[in-house]
Amino acid sequence: MIIRSRIDYGAVVYSTCKKSYLGPICTIQNTALRLAFGAFRTSPVSSLHCLANEFPLIDRFHYLRLSYVVHIARNPNNPLRRPILESPIDPALQNPFNKRLRSDLQQLDLPSFPQTLSQTFTSNPPWVNSPLPVNISMSIYKTDTTPPSVIQAEYRALTSQFPDHTHLFTDASKSSQGVGAAVKTPTDVLQFSLPTYSSVLTGELYNILEALNHIVNLPGFHFVLFTDSMSALQAFKALFPVNPLVVRIQEQFQQLRLQSKEILFCYIPSHMGITGNEMADTLAKEAILSVNSKPLIAVPSTDIKSLFRTRIVASWQRKWDTHPSHLRKIQPNVTTRLPLPSTRQGQVLISRLRLGHSRLAHAYLFSLDKVPPQCTKCKSVPAVEHILLHCTTFQQNRIRWSLLPSLTEVLGDLPAVEKLLQFLTAAGLLQLI
Ligand SMILES: [Zn+2]
Repeated sequence: MIIRSRIDYGAVVYSTCKKSYLGPICTIQNTALRLAFGAFRTSPVSSLHCLANEFPLIDRFHYLRLSYVVHIARNPNNPLRRPILESPIDPALQNPFNKRLRSDLQQLDLPSFPQTLSQTFTSNPPWVNSPLPVNISMSIYKTDTTPPSVIQAEYRALTSQFPDHTHLFTDASKSSQGVGAAVKTPTDVLQFSLPTYSSVLTGELYNILEALNHIVNLPGFHFVLFTDSMSALQAFKALFPVNPLVVRIQEQFQQLRLQSKEILFCYIPSHMGITGNEMADTLAKEAILSVNSKPLIAVPSTDIKSLFRTRIVASWQRKWDTHPSHLRKIQPNVTTRLPLPSTRQGQVLISRLRLGHSRLAHAYLFSLDKVPPQCTKCKSVPAVEHILLHCTTFQQNRIRWSLLPSLTEVLGDLPAVEKLLQFLTAAGLLQLI
């Protein structure tokens, strides 16, 4: 962590220099990873990144630069906002930051910087505001074990407590084509479409905000807003909310209270045959592509950071997919975190086996004569795969410890790895890995 913070400091500015200048800095990260795993110098750098679930430094810099712009974009008063996000590229300058930003976005197939919701803060201190009344009594029912009829009966009992209230239902839905959100009131339907990178939580929060905006013009003074988003209701508890939509909801709620309008937020389980919820669900799905939907383009900065991370991970994955490494047979996905045993010795041994570089097969590269070793019995190179799966010398021990027949299985989960360590001890291989 001490090294990481120093590398990160100023990376937004210096990381777009020539790649050859970044080489020594990449070496620092790679050395740190090697030390952490106890890996040999011959182990491929790309495998080390993958095993550690750490971005290659160039990708990390890419993410840091874009995250920095997210911070600028969400603050309308930031003096850098105009020169970076709004001004045209000045041809007199050699490589200004906004030109580098355009290149960073193009690498992720993004035509422009996504619209970011401005960060706002509550105008009143938290002790002046009334907390938002939330009823989550129906969250005690587990939807996978409780019959829908029981939940429907409980819902009827719950709503009977509010006979004079106006009931509103909200729901959001995400698909590969986008995010849709809908509000169903007794008389109206409101539909919204959000960008594909928006989270469902953003859809749910926008829904609640738009429902409150709608209530301003509705007759009556008592309203119940039913939602199946527990995370949206949990977000209301924050004294100093970070999500700009939660801030806006809290502000609008206080405004409605000044008009003597009371709103209760109620949790209801989804897909349980509750009519209002089912209707809102269908409307939200329709809203994704409906021409009647009001487009909501700006999303919170967390969604945009998540978009950048997802795209950079996808690009890293594409590179990994073409990488001919031993580790890829065991860990095809860059974001998978493989478990490690609890002892340091076990961690080093298993990491070396996963990386495919062991003392037995690769120590010759550090010797003077550089003659590759040969298995005395099978006359083949004693690579990790040969030792663990094929070598006849260790056949008895392999059967005794019931080693699994593929590299993916034998170096995969924790029980397999514990068994493998017992095998290595019994076969006298501990010092040779
Ligand atoms: Zn052999």
